[in-house]
Amino acid sequence: MHHAPLQNAAEPPETEAPVVLSMQDIHHAYGRHTAVAGIDLTVHQGEVVCLLGPSGCGKTTLLRIVAGLEVLQRGHVAVNGRALGRPHVPPEHRNVGLAFQESALFPHLSVLENVTFGLESLPARRRRERARELLALLGMERHAASYPHTLSGGQQQRVALARALAPEPGLMLLDEPFSSLDARLRDRIRDDTLHVLKKLGAGALLVTHDPEEAMFMADRIALMRDGHIVQMGTPRELYCEPADPFVVTFFDTVNELFGEVRDGRVATPVGEVAAPKLAEGEWARVMIRPEALRVEALTTPPAPTHSHVVMAKLLGRTSLLHICAHGAGGREAHLHARVPGVFLPEEGQPVSIRLDPSQVFVFAAGTSPAHGEA
Ligand code: ATP
Repeated sequence: MHHAPLQNAAEPPETEAPVVLSMQDIHHAYGRHTAVAGIDLTVHQGEVVCLLGPSGCGKTTLLRIVAGLEVLQRGHVAVNGRALGRPHVPPEHRNVGLAFQESALFPHLSVLENVTFGLESLPARRRRERARELLALLGMERHAASYPHTLSGGQQQRVALARALAPEPGLMLLDEPFSSLDARLRDRIRDDTLHVLKKLGAGALLVTHDPEEAMFMADRIALMRDGHIVQMGTPRELYCEPADPFVVTFFDTVNELFGEVRDGRVATPVGEVAAPKLAEGEWARVMIRPEALRVEALTTPPAPTHSHVVMAKLLGRTSLLHICAHGAGGREAHLHARVPGVFLPEEGQPVSIRLDPSQVFVFAAGTSPAHGEA
């Protein structure tokens, strides 16, 4: 399918858009094990919200609570203003569409019949029209008469999405719906799904452990760890204004340097970094994204000890440079720099390094446990 690019896909929705999902103070335990605690979350009409986080952080549990597949233990859940928790409203009466990683189609029904299945409330003709509309949106109209076993995994996933969207649910719940597909196919189906969700204007809650998928799909991301939301915001907010080191490292492997705060700054081998939120004398953790290092080849090294290239690798769209950085006072560090395009200097090439401060983050060292460190 070909579409015009979505405008402002990453912007939050108009604040006045109605709330389709509201979750307040959700706690859930399996026996003695607390899976999620103190979760507050809203999804507005037309908004895609991603639950992002490492395996076991509680994403699926939250989705299952909204779907009605888990009985609400504590807190409030409402879809389109209707409370669903007490008494428990069963999944089929919640007006939510479900799409999971392995969404099984009915093997004895054709593609068209699979999609019309949930539309009993419509007259038969309208039912078929609606199913064909959805199949067309997902590029599967030609396969309406086929049976599931004759389709590829990606085609089956498209049909499953069409089936979930056909009844016009107020809210779509998607749990890693693309993860069983290979990379190319996943990109296409992801793109098509985003366009269909935006076209239909449904609210959506999508579970993923893949930060790139979350950035691609989401208007807002709730980044989770150990059953809690660590930070909730637009992809830009999480990437550019991370609340703690975990948020930084979840999106990318970064360079980490440590130093003491002196006059509001931390000295590093690649220059001084402002640390306005830290106290004088405090030990600081400086996190530098590889793209924050601006590297230029030098013909004449400025000093006998200069920064130089250790290794350069082409990764495709970017080149990765391993650099030995030398700073004032004999400080030295091994750093990774990511440079757009093909930039493959020789080993030993002297370089100058400048920092883009917008992709450098400073935290008090030791305050937050680090995950997935460089
Ligand atoms: P993944 O990405 O691996 O699916 P997740 O973030 O979706 O992980 P959940 O599936 O919600 O995480 O699980 C949260 C925690 O609750 C985990 O520690 C998990 O082992 C536990 N858990 C989940 N389901 C059950 C269950 N039915 N019984 C007992 N413990 C469970």
